[in-house]
Amino acid sequence: MATAGFICKFCSKWFKTKRGLGVHKQSQHLAEYENEIEVPKAKTRWTHEELDIMAMHEAQLISQGKTTEINTELLPLFPSRTREAIKGQQRLQKYKDLIAEYTVSNPMFASLTDPTVACFFEEDP
Ligand SMILES: [Zn+2]
Repeated sequence: MATAGFICKFCSKWFKTKRGLGVHKQSQHLAEYENEIEVPKAKTRWTHEELDIMAMHEAQLISQGKTTEINTELLPLFPSRTREAIKGQQRLQKYKDLIAEYTVSNPMFASLTDPTVACFFEEDP
């Protein structure tokens, strides 16, 4: 009796065909399945510089009263990041501390409207 087949490594379910297993993984273990295929860009670690730039811009937007579309403004700054990735960073205490730092130590942002202010950070790492 042949025992050939394909076992789901996530839940040990047995499948007669590889295709069947693939369909099962896509429907039952989508997140794990996608991780197997590629590491999403959003998983790449954020550098300190990136967080600095993002926090600075966000602090600036907040001081300008633009609190509703912050992510829409931040997204173009990080072409390789997703909106979800940005939201993920915003939930971190480390990032909140940066925002507080920029908001408190740079009250001049209130009058700054120049969006190219990020150029100050384009020095070599
Ligand atoms: Zn499974």
